[in-house]
Amino acid sequence: MNEKEQMKKVAQQLCEMERFFAGDFSVRKSPQTEPCCQKTTDRPDEPAAGLEMIAGQVRQCRKCAIGSARINAVPGEGNPAARLVFVGEGPGADEDAQGRPFVGRAGQLLDKMIVAMGLKRGDVFICNIIKCRPPENRDPKPDEVFNCFPYLKEQLAIIRPEIIVALGKPAANALLENDTAIGKLRGIFHEYHYSPDCPPAKLMPTYHPAYLLRSYSPENRQRVWDDLQKVIKELGLPAQPD
Ligand code: URA
Repeated sequence: MNEKEQMKKVAQQLCEMERFFAGDFSVRKSPQTEPCCQKTTDRPDEPAAGLEMIAGQVRQCRKCAIGSARINAVPGEGNPAARLVFVGEGPGADEDAQGRPFVGRAGQLLDKMIVAMGLKRGDVFICNIIKCRPPENRDPKPDEVFNCFPYLKEQLAIIRPEIIVALGKPAANALLENDTAIGKLRGIFHEYHYSPDCPPAKLMPTYHPAYLLRSYSPENRQRVWDDLQKVIKELGLPAQPD
């Protein structure tokens, strides 16, 4: 290691120590560039730059008709070093207007869920399986998911979170490549495989906040909170009051 590389390593270590003692949630337990997880993409080495490159491609994308009907594409946003990523279904009207994920009513509830976990929105990464708003908020069509999924896969490969929370059936089914009901999937950790030679992320499906808003029963709230508590525990974060 030459002098410049040594200096860079020391600076990195100091920076990580500082973030650790400041309680920065984003600090990873293991470095992001383990040999078994070498990236297979052409993206830049810096996660933030890689994510920005994908966001640029998403904003240019016109593979589906909804790409021409949108006001804004919604690539996703958050911490490029997040240990936890939330994946929703697709942008609604508010997200389409602002170009940011989960900023409407469902987003406000998601923010509350994140805070209840003892985290801030900026600690995590938030995105969707499709990046353009389907008209009338209909479910994404299979060809739209097919066209858009590679962007999500690349985002996840760059961030490589320890845990992915899939919000609702379309997100859970797309990530797990099945068609199982969300009621059967939720509450259990599944695996999301980045590539055959890389340890998988844990994937926790739970109900979508928009569903919770429609069916705001104590039972459903409790189910989602139970799922999130499992995530808190798995990440080794302090338990949060009910
Ligand atoms: N619902 C989603 O699935 N995603 C958003 O970004 C907003 C609402």
